[in-house]
Amino acid sequence: MARYTGADCRLCRREGAKLFLKGDRCYTEKCALQRRDYAPGDAGRRRPRESEYRTQLREKQKTKRIYGVLEKQFRHYYELANRQQGITGENLLRMLECRLDNVVYRLGFAKSRAEARQQVRHGHIQVNGRRVDIPSFRVRPGDLVAVAPKAREMLVIKSALISNERVQVPAWLEVDIEKLQGSVLAYPQRDQIDADIREQLIVELYSK
Ligand code: SF4
Repeated sequence: MARYTGADCRLCRREGAKLFLKGDRCYTEKCALQRRDYAPGDAGRRRPRESEYRTQLREKQKTKRIYGVLEKQFRHYYELANRQQGITGENLLRMLECRLDNVVYRLGFAKSRAEARQQVRHGHIQVNGRRVDIPSFRVRPGDLVAVAPKAREMLVIKSALISNERVQVPAWLEVDIEKLQGSVLAYPQRDQIDADIREQLIVELYSK
Protein backbone atom coordinates (compact mmCIF):
# COMPACT_ATOMS: atom_id res chain seq x y z
CA MET A 1 0.00 0.00 0.00
CA ALA A 2 1.32 3.38 -0.98
CA ARG A 3 2.36 5.87 1.67
CA TYR A 4 3.85 9.33 1.90
CA THR A 5 7.66 9.17 1.98
CA GLY A 6 8.58 12.86 2.11
CA ALA A 7 9.63 14.94 5.10
CA ASP A 8 7.10 14.74 7.93
CA CYS A 9 7.81 18.16 9.38
CA ARG A 10 6.98 19.79 6.06
CA LEU A 11 3.44 18.49 6.50
CA CYS A 12 3.04 20.17 9.88
CA ARG A 13 4.46 23.40 8.49
CA ARG A 14 2.06 23.23 5.56
CA GLU A 15 -0.91 22.82 7.92
CA GLY A 16 0.43 25.33 10.44
CA ALA A 17 -0.24 22.84 13.23
CA LYS A 18 1.62 20.17 15.14
CA LEU A 19 0.50 16.82 13.77
CA PHE A 20 2.83 14.82 16.05
CA LEU A 21 4.26 12.67 13.28
CA LYS A 22 7.72 12.10 14.72
CA GLY A 23 7.26 10.87 18.27
CA ASP A 24 9.60 12.30 20.91
CA ARG A 25 10.96 15.05 18.71
CA CYS A 26 7.53 16.67 18.51
CA TYR A 27 7.65 17.41 22.23
CA THR A 28 11.06 19.10 22.15
CA GLU A 29 12.35 22.44 20.94
CA LYS A 30 13.74 20.63 17.90
CA CYS A 31 10.21 20.61 16.49
CA ALA A 32 10.50 22.22 13.06
CA LEU A 33 7.24 24.09 13.49
CA GLN A 34 8.57 25.86 16.55
CA ARG A 35 11.68 26.91 14.71
CA ARG A 36 10.08 27.81 11.37
CA ASP A 37 6.47 28.69 11.89
CA TYR A 38 5.58 29.24 8.24
CA ALA A 39 4.69 27.02 5.28
CA PRO A 40 7.51 25.40 3.28
CA GLY A 41 8.50 26.61 -0.16
CA ASP A 42 9.21 29.97 -1.74
CA ALA A 43 5.75 31.33 -1.07
CA GLY A 44 5.66 29.94 2.45
CA ARG A 45 5.88 33.31 4.19
CA ARG A 46 3.16 34.88 2.07
CA ARG A 47 -0.27 35.08 3.63
CA PRO A 48 -2.58 32.70 1.77
CA ARG A 49 -5.86 34.02 0.43
CA GLU A 50 -8.61 32.76 2.69
CA SER A 51 -11.63 31.03 1.21
CA GLU A 52 -14.20 28.51 2.34
CA TYR A 53 -12.76 25.95 -0.07
CA ARG A 54 -9.24 26.46 1.23
CA THR A 55 -10.36 25.98 4.85
CA GLN A 56 -12.15 22.74 3.97
CA LEU A 57 -9.27 21.47 1.87
CA ARG A 58 -6.71 22.15 4.59
CA GLU A 59 -8.84 20.35 7.17
CA LYS A 60 -9.05 17.30 4.92
CA GLN A 61 -5.34 17.35 4.17
CA LYS A 62 -4.50 17.72 7.86
CA THR A 63 -6.67 14.75 8.81
CA LYS A 64 -5.13 12.56 6.10
CA ARG A 65 -1.69 13.47 7.31
CA ILE A 66 -2.45 12.84 10.97
CA TYR A 67 -3.57 9.30 10.16
CA GLY A 68 -1.03 8.70 7.37
CA VAL A 69 -3.67 7.94 4.75
CA LEU A 70 -3.43 8.93 1.08
CA GLU A 71 -6.24 10.51 -0.94
CA LYS A 72 -7.68 7.41 -2.58
CA GLN A 73 -8.03 5.49 0.65
CA PHE A 74 -9.28 8.54 2.52
CA ARG A 75 -11.95 9.11 -0.08
CA HIS A 76 -12.93 5.46 0.26
CA TYR A 77 -13.34 5.93 4.02
CA TYR A 78 -15.54 8.93 3.35
CA GLU A 79 -17.75 6.95 0.94
CA LEU A 80 -18.19 4.21 3.54
CA ALA A 81 -18.87 6.74 6.28
CA ASN A 82 -21.47 8.42 4.12
CA ARG A 83 -23.31 5.15 3.61
CA GLN A 84 -23.40 4.33 7.31
CA GLN A 85 -26.12 5.50 9.65
CA GLY A 86 -25.32 8.45 11.90
CA ILE A 87 -23.19 11.54 11.41
CA THR A 88 -20.87 11.12 8.43
CA GLY A 89 -17.98 13.10 9.91
CA GLU A 90 -18.03 11.08 13.12
CA ASN A 91 -18.30 7.81 11.18
CA LEU A 92 -15.23 8.85 9.21
CA LEU A 93 -13.18 9.63 12.30
CA ARG A 94 -14.31 6.40 13.94
CA MET A 95 -13.05 4.38 10.99
CA LEU A 96 -9.71 6.16 11.03
CA GLU A 97 -9.35 5.60 14.78
CA CYS A 98 -10.10 1.90 14.43
CA ARG A 99 -7.23 1.33 12.00
CA LEU A 100 -4.79 -1.14 13.52
CA ASP A 101 -1.79 1.20 13.16
CA ASN A 102 -3.67 3.91 15.04
CA VAL A 103 -4.70 1.48 17.79
CA VAL A 104 -1.10 0.32 18.26
CA TYR A 105 -0.10 3.98 18.59
CA ARG A 106 -2.95 4.81 20.97
CA LEU A 107 -2.06 1.82 23.15
CA GLY A 108 1.43 3.27 23.50
CA PHE A 109 3.35 0.51 21.68
CA ALA A 110 4.77 3.00 19.17
CA LYS A 111 5.87 6.61 19.37
CA SER A 112 4.04 7.66 16.24
CA ARG A 113 1.53 6.24 13.79
CA ALA A 114 4.33 5.81 11.24
CA GLU A 115 6.26 3.67 13.71
CA ALA A 116 3.10 1.71 14.54
CA ARG A 117 2.51 1.14 10.86
CA GLN A 118 5.99 -0.31 10.50
CA GLN A 119 5.48 -2.63 13.46
CA VAL A 120 2.30 -3.93 11.90
CA ARG A 121 3.90 -4.28 8.49
CA HIS A 122 6.79 -6.26 9.99
CA GLY A 123 4.41 -8.72 11.62
CA HIS A 124 5.04 -7.64 15.22
CA ILE A 125 1.36 -7.22 16.04
CA GLN A 126 -1.31 -9.84 16.64
CA VAL A 127 -5.07 -9.46 16.74
CA ASN A 128 -6.89 -12.17 18.69
CA GLY A 129 -3.74 -14.31 18.66
CA ARG A 130 -3.17 -14.14 14.91
CA ARG A 131 -0.57 -12.06 13.12
CA VAL A 132 -2.05 -9.16 11.17
CA ASP A 133 0.31 -7.20 8.94
CA ILE A 134 -2.20 -4.82 7.36
CA PRO A 135 -2.02 -1.34 8.92
CA SER A 136 -5.50 -0.43 7.69
CA PHE A 137 -7.07 -3.50 9.33
CA ARG A 138 -10.05 -2.25 11.34
CA VAL A 139 -10.45 -3.47 14.89
CA ARG A 140 -13.82 -4.14 16.46
CA PRO A 141 -15.09 -4.18 20.06
CA GLY A 142 -13.86 -7.32 21.79
CA ASP A 143 -10.64 -7.57 19.76
CA LEU A 144 -7.39 -8.19 21.60
CA VAL A 145 -4.38 -6.42 20.11
CA ALA A 146 -1.00 -7.67 21.32
CA VAL A 147 2.70 -7.39 20.58
CA ALA A 148 3.83 -10.73 19.14
CA PRO A 149 5.95 -12.84 21.55
CA LYS A 150 9.09 -12.54 19.40
CA ALA A 151 8.82 -8.74 19.35
CA ARG A 152 8.36 -8.21 23.08
CA GLU A 153 12.03 -7.53 23.73
CA MET A 154 12.37 -5.04 20.92
CA LEU A 155 13.99 -1.82 22.08
CA VAL A 156 11.75 0.28 19.89
CA ILE A 157 8.68 -0.97 21.74
CA LYS A 158 10.26 -0.56 25.17
CA SER A 159 11.32 2.98 24.42
CA ALA A 160 7.88 3.77 23.03
CA LEU A 161 6.30 2.60 26.29
CA ILE A 162 8.57 4.89 28.28
CA SER A 163 8.05 7.96 26.15
CA ASN A 164 4.33 7.34 25.78
CA GLU A 165 3.76 7.62 29.52
CA ARG A 166 2.69 11.17 28.73
CA VAL A 167 0.02 9.91 26.33
CA GLN A 168 -3.29 8.83 27.83
CA VAL A 169 -4.87 5.68 26.49
CA PRO A 170 -8.41 6.62 25.36
CA ALA A 171 -11.39 5.25 27.26
CA TRP A 172 -12.48 2.97 24.41
CA LEU A 173 -9.24 1.00 24.75
CA GLU A 174 -7.73 -0.79 27.73
CA VAL A 175 -4.05 -1.57 27.93
CA ASP A 176 -2.12 -4.17 29.92
CA ILE A 177 1.47 -2.95 29.87
CA GLU A 178 2.85 -6.09 31.53
CA LYS A 179 1.39 -8.36 28.87
CA LEU A 180 1.93 -5.80 26.07
CA GLN A 181 -1.63 -6.15 24.94
CA GLY A 182 -4.76 -4.07 24.77
CA SER A 183 -8.47 -4.64 24.36
CA VAL A 184 -10.96 -2.75 22.27
CA LEU A 185 -13.82 -2.06 24.67
CA ALA A 186 -16.12 -0.22 22.26
CA TYR A 187 -16.15 1.86 19.14
CA PRO A 188 -14.81 5.34 19.96
CA GLN A 189 -17.26 8.16 20.55
CA ARG A 190 -16.41 11.59 19.13
CA ASP A 191 -15.47 13.05 22.51
CA GLN A 192 -13.04 10.15 23.05
CA ILE A 193 -11.10 10.95 19.89
CA ASP A 194 -8.31 13.24 20.89
CA ALA A 195 -7.69 14.95 17.58
CA ASP A 196 -8.05 18.59 16.69
CA ILE A 197 -10.17 17.96 13.61
CA ARG A 198 -13.30 19.73 12.35
CA GLU A 199 -14.69 16.76 10.46
CA GLN A 200 -17.77 18.67 9.27
CA LEU A 201 -15.50 20.69 6.95
CA ILE A 202 -14.31 17.48 5.30
CA VAL A 203 -17.88 16.35 4.73
CA GLU A 204 -18.75 19.73 3.23
CA LEU A 205 -15.76 19.50 0.90
CA TYR A 206 -16.56 16.01 -0.38
CA SER A 207 -20.27 16.62 -0.74
CA LYS A 208 -19.81 19.52 -3.19
FE1 SF4 B 1 5.42 18.11 13.31
FE2 SF4 B 1 6.69 16.62 15.05
FE3 SF4 B 1 8.02 17.71 13.00
FE4 SF4 B 1 7.12 19.22 15.04
S1 SF4 B 1 8.68 17.60 15.13
S2 SF4 B 1 6.97 19.69 12.87
S3 SF4 B 1 5.14 18.20 15.53
S4 SF4 B 1 6.41 16.14 12.90
